[in-house]
Amino acid sequence: MSRKINIAIDGYSSCGKGTLAKALAKALHYTFIDTGAMYRAVTYSLLENFIDINNTEAVIKHLPSLQISFNYQPDKNFYHTVLNGVDIESEIRGMEVSNLVSPVSKIDAVRTFLVDQQRQIGANKAVVMDGRDIGTVVFPDAELKLFMTAKPEIRAQRRLDELRYKGDTLTTFEEVLNNLNERDRIDSGRENSPLKPATDAILIDNSFMTRDEQFHQALELALNKIG
Ligand code: C5P
Repeated sequence: MSRKINIAIDGYSSCGKGTLAKALAKALHYTFIDTGAMYRAVTYSLLENFIDINNTEAVIKHLPSLQISFNYQPDKNFYHTVLNGVDIESEIRGMEVSNLVSPVSKIDAVRTFLVDQQRQIGANKAVVMDGRDIGTVVFPDAELKLFMTAKPEIRAQRRLDELRYKGDTLTTFEEVLNNLNERDRIDSGRENSPLKPATDAILIDNSFMTRDEQFHQALELALNKIG
């Protein structure tokens, strides 16, 4: 008899965690949750409402007004982030949010607010969740934990290709590379839930792997756990 499991996919910025998580969720008929999108949604709303992120009281007061959900149509590969009923997917992927999201993610109240929601979503298992602290903090008992990395230049090029594909012709390779490195630095160095592999995580460096190779390796690991 197969059982339902939770799969935690953590790792550095723009390692293709989301791509792998989506593919696994589709193959296993599991729910996919992009926790980075949740931190981005909070950041976007703080920017939109001119809330100073150093004003912890104002940030805490703002959080309960945020309803984050996802519009998922896996058959169409359509995964959009929705904030209070409004699709904000393209807004949260831009450089303005990317440049502020790591400082926002250091705020304890923001993490508590989002981790509670993430735990609720995964309470009944059958979830593939990608982020930075899923295997260490959100689901320390996840049955399968992957930790992904790739060379920074390769990650920056992939991210730039994605931005170009979405119509961004202005952002440069250097800007993207600096943003990745800076986010990884802040995410790894913070006190609350730093980015690091769980002791029982399986490390995957996908610098020279195709999406297909990576997917098949991860699927096999998942199927072994599911039984
Ligand atoms: O996954 P993505 O690159 O979109 O995440 C954006 C940012 O959100 C990360 O750089 C990190 O600061 C924050 N984040 C986090 N914990 C998570 C997921 C994302 O702190 N579980």
